[in-house]
Amino acid sequence: MSLSHGPQTLAIPGPSIIPDRVLRAMHRPSPNIYVGPLVDLTHSLIPDLKTVAQTDHNATIYIGNGHAAWEASLANTHAKGDLVLVPRTGTFADGWAEVARCMGIRTEMLDFGNRDAMDPAAIGQRLREDTGHEIKSVLCVHVDTSSSIKADLKAIRAEIDAAGHPALLHADCMASLGCDEMRMDDWGVDVAFAGCQKGLMTPAGMAFVFYNDRAAKARERSDLATFYWDWTPRTDPEIYFRYFQGTGPTHHLYGLRESLDMIVHEEGIENVWTRHATLAAALHAAFDRWEDHGTNGAGLELNVRDPAIRSNAVTSVRLPEHGTDLRMWCEDHMGLTLGIGLGMAPNGDRMTNGFFRVGHMGHVSGHSMLGTLASIDAGLKALNVPHGTGALEAASAVIAGKDR
Ligand SMILES: *Cc1c(COP(=O)(O)O)cnc(C)c1O
Repeated sequence: MSLSHGPQTLAIPGPSIIPDRVLRAMHRPSPNIYVGPLVDLTHSLIPDLKTVAQTDHNATIYIGNGHAAWEASLANTHAKGDLVLVPRTGTFADGWAEVARCMGIRTEMLDFGNRDAMDPAAIGQRLREDTGHEIKSVLCVHVDTSSSIKADLKAIRAEIDAAGHPALLHADCMASLGCDEMRMDDWGVDVAFAGCQKGLMTPAGMAFVFYNDRAAKARERSDLATFYWDWTPRTDPEIYFRYFQGTGPTHHLYGLRESLDMIVHEEGIENVWTRHATLAAALHAAFDRWEDHGTNGAGLELNVRDPAIRSNAVTSVRLPEHGTDLRMWCEDHMGLTLGIGLGMAPNGDRMTNGFFRVGHMGHVSGHSMLGTLASIDAGLKALNVPHGTGALEAASAVIAGKDR
């Protein structure tokens, strides 16, 4: 018998759950795109996007996804043949570097593996060696969605400065924006970007690129920004269609207005971060109990061992032999869709089916988190996976504020 009828929960790390009010805001006829409410609404999005990224600098909107943001941000800050340094803590760094290489940018990877933090000192050391300042940018994925490792952007900035190196700091905030704390200006990030379909709770289709004056300066020497990708005309344009270099993503804009109302004007960005942190703490507490140390370390465990570098938006789990089974069981029996493991094991490796991910970004509540955890608990039991007890009690204790 399946218990998957009734409400469905999407707990993958993007796209995330779209709130009903966002969907309703989009359900309307096409608006006039030359004058009237849509124009005013679009202007109103810019300051709120800046609030979400905590920047007073520039915000642009592209019709596109995260890959578009990768391309947009690189195109505006680099010339063909430039070298960039890519600290790596998961497969999204590989994807970003590949985009750079396809644009004629040379990449140097600094691989920290799939389980440990980026080491800011190692980044600083590499920059000190680069006495000719050949490295133009450091490309840091803030939260790598495959491994669920969070980078310390502030510490990395401090190392770049301590090395006396002029490299720009780019942050891929696709998974983190609107979930994990992100303070672009305070942390000295020069270019940051995200899409709309993760923390910002709208259907995939828009990408946001934020940049400061140092990055604007780099635009002057870049030769990769073609008509569509150039951020200059898109920034505070006098003519409306320049925002998008063509027809705007009309309905997405209505959806985004609604989600930014929820995030910025109703809950408040700091409270949004705290909600995500609390729910993530409940989830991590549950996994700490479930973790099974009785099988030579080959049992259920969180991918990221150090709690300080765990994301509040996505969690990667190692479950040798059973990761795929558990995910399928939750989908078939509970109406809960968990994320697949991504790039954590080579094809054919015994760990290929040994991962799953929990997306907890955006429209998540205490109720949805406890439902997700209880569903996983049922799946572990149904599949006879060895696991510790007390997980749900530990999670609800965190939520009740009685963390032991
Ligand atoms: C989702 C994601 C991307 C890619 O976004 P798409 O919209 O799928 O192109 C890039 N980087 C990170 C960190 C992501 O989480």
